[in-house]
Amino acid sequence: MPPSRPDPVLLSAAARAAIVAAAAAATPAECCGALLGRHDEAGARVIDAVALPNRAPSPLNGFAIDPADSARSSALARQDRLDLIGWFHGHPRGAPQPSPRDIATAGGFPGTLHIIIAPAGLRAFITAADAWHEQPLIQETQPCRSC
Ligand SMILES: [Zn+2]
Repeated sequence: MPPSRPDPVLLSAAARAAIVAAAAAATPAECCGALLGRHDEAGARVIDAVALPNRAPSPLNGFAIDPADSARSSALARQDRLDLIGWFHGHPRGAPQPSPRDIATAGGFPGTLHIIIAPAGLRAFITAADAWHEQPLIQETQPCRSC
């Protein structure tokens, strides 16, 4: 079931820049990483993004995040008084939409925020067992002074 009211995802200028830099550095492979931020009544606020090594056997056509890297991201988030609120990865030659492989892989982790970056731009999704549901993505262009 898709969420009845998609929660907006607010992406800070710093987090957006980090995701764009991760994608550029990983090309032609897929980038991946952690989204750090908070959930509040307005939705999800992505304040920072941290690139992580892509541990997939074929990083040109997929991504995998090591549990140890995931644990380090959680610790990093807590250090900054943030939460690990999701993940990002890149489709350097595709569209910013989940691939069948993405959906199959993330089905075991429903309800997770995920941002995909592709040449056409960035889109945000919440994972579910059989599909990813797009969320409105609001991209800040100026650094946020209050967060
Ligand atoms: Zn993908």
